[in-house]
Amino acid sequence: SNRFDDKVVLITGAASGLGQASALQVAKEGAKLSLVDLNNEALEETKDLIAKEAPEAEVLLITADVSDEKAVKNYVQQTTDHFGRIDGFFNNAGIEGKQNLTEDYSSDEFSKVVGINLNGVFYGMKYVLEVMKKQGSGAIVNTASVGGIRGVGNQSGYAASKHGVVGLTRNSGIEYGQYGISIKAIAPGAIMTPMVEGSLKQMGGDNWEEAGKEFVSTNPMKRFGKPEEVGSLVAFLLSDEADFINAAVIPIDGGQSYK
Ligand code: NAD
Repeated sequence: SNRFDDKVVLITGAASGLGQASALQVAKEGAKLSLVDLNNEALEETKDLIAKEAPEAEVLLITADVSDEKAVKNYVQQTTDHFGRIDGFFNNAGIEGKQNLTEDYSSDEFSKVVGINLNGVFYGMKYVLEVMKKQGSGAIVNTASVGGIRGVGNQSGYAASKHGVVGLTRNSGIEYGQYGISIKAIAPGAIMTPMVEGSLKQMGGDNWEEAGKEFVSTNPMKRFGKPEEVGSLVAFLLSDEADFINAAVIPIDGGQSYK
């Protein structure tokens, strides 16, 4: 039997990178999927990818902006209308924002990044927890970052939002353990996804591949992480095996956050 047979997994930011890799992993292990993203086209491509690699998986696609509370309430409602329950929630959608020193960091950009990365994660937990509490079971994985446990620089909005995700995880984890629900966060380092490619282009311009080499030279493992490696971790954390891991933040960064 598979770890996710008869389980419903809801994933935000599912059309790319870490969300997509995690969707594929749990689909291969039997999950029914509700996939949320802003990017409609990329969501359809993700569905095609899943159809190839996990043809049995039932997939619901929902286009929504996680920074909009009504849209979040709605994607949770659509998921339960369709599948009747939510067993796992990968609360993952996020953006990096434009890099700048704090004094030059635009206040609009700050609000935008926090609106998606932090408010979006809060709204998601708020409405999903209602469902899981009634069920008396569930697991939530929020996406924080190395930038949520230490300083990185030039990322006021990102750092504030990801430290906030760590706080939300610890706070809600201790509230909901008694209802059979575990809440944890992952803190990825540099994983090669479209987001990190965009980030390297901000740092290195046309020479972004060189910038990438220089960047990973400071990582203890001298490489970028792979989305599939995060997918495996997320699948484990959403499974029953990881039920006693609660209010915890798990780095997946080659050791970068301990340097
Ligand atoms: P990505 O850009 O490849 O994927 C993010 C997805 O989220 C995209 O499909 C995008 O359309 C979607 N999205 C963005 N804003 C949205 C919104 N308002 N509503 C709904 N969907 C939205 O990035 P990724 O690298 O897979 O990042 C996923 C998460 O992991 C983010 O929270 C990011 O901060 C975090 N993270 C990534 C890394 C890394 O190295 N890749 C490291 C640490 C943390």
